[in-house]
Amino acid sequence: MNEPPTVLAGTLVGGSDHDEPHGWIELRDDRIAAVGAGVPAASPLDLGDAVLVPGFVDLQVNGVADRDFATSDVAAWVDALRVLARAGTTACLPTLVSAPLDDYDAMLDVAREARAQAASDRDTPVAQVLGVHLEGPFLGGAPGAHVREHVRPIDLGWLEQLLDHHGDIVRMVTLAPEADPGHEAIRLLSSRGIVVALGHSTATYDDAVAAASAGARVVTHAFNGMAPLHHRAPGLVGAALTVRDLTPTVIADLVHIHPAVVDLVIRARPDAVLVSDAVAVGAGSVGPVDVRAAGNVARLADGTLAGSTITLADAVRNVVAIGTPVATAVGMAGAHPAVVLGDAERGRLAPGARADVVALSADRLDVVSTWIGGRRVAPA
Ligand code: ZN
Repeated sequence: MNEPPTVLAGTLVGGSDHDEPHGWIELRDDRIAAVGAGVPAASPLDLGDAVLVPGFVDLQVNGVADRDFATSDVAAWVDALRVLARAGTTACLPTLVSAPLDDYDAMLDVAREARAQAASDRDTPVAQVLGVHLEGPFLGGAPGAHVREHVRPIDLGWLEQLLDHHGDIVRMVTLAPEADPGHEAIRLLSSRGIVVALGHSTATYDDAVAAASAGARVVTHAFNGMAPLHHRAPGLVGAALTVRDLTPTVIADLVHIHPAVVDLVIRARPDAVLVSDAVAVGAGSVGPVDVRAAGNVARLADGTLAGSTITLADAVRNVVAIGTPVATAVGMAGAHPAVVLGDAERGRLAPGARADVVALSADRLDVVSTWIGGRRVAPA
């Protein structure tokens, strides 16, 4: 490719060992070639007083604006990925909520094609698809906004067939332990390298520990879609806060969870992950579920919370606003989700990492510019 390198300078947050007050990053082709302190030798792009952080990685995003991943064609997927890129999300797991078993083949075929298109367009970079997150349909006692008729106990034969056809695109599955009491699905999925998350469940603490022993690694949107924390019955929330093998994700729109409880999660689990759980309120639906906008959240007609309308950059600002250090907030949106996925190329400002970088304004942490694979994302 041999393009001239791009040099970015500013406050670096999120390096492996370069959390310097001022420094620089050199992007060469699709990689970070070098990182240093002080003033760079080559003249950097003028970004003002920028904070440079690793690109945000959203493990749970159902859609954006009027593009619902579950019901969109490939072109609409790429449009949505472009909107996400402008908001600083450089990679994501588009998320599909519980649907009839017969619907998954077609949705995952679209996802695969969209992933290929997103990866191949170097001139107009968009958020990269790291795979799909299937939230359901094997959920349990707390289905939330999921359509009850589509929620079901595991069907191992169907799951095996799905993985034979789509194992390359399914990256994460949220299921409930009570839908998989023998842990066959947890073991099957984790043996294929798919991240198993526990959620939409009334599992006990012991159920969650047993599921973690079988291979589960995440608790999906802790506190939402599960029983509340009780001091004698800690449940899935208690496991999310205390079991090291389970990493909690949180929706930090400050509506899904009270700010004090977001603070509690971060204090208990500095390795927690921010997810947007954004839904395309402009499309009026998330998969088979009708939703409407209500402030920065989406709700069903009966008022049930059905996802957010925030971006990961909004979530970072929100947790900083409640007193979380910027470095922790940024880690929750980049480094920590990359660790959950076992993706060593993302979430770090370090030589050899992918050149996925976000420049934030120093005063408000607004997204100023985004680079994906070393290419600057065009503004809207
Ligand atoms: Zn959910």
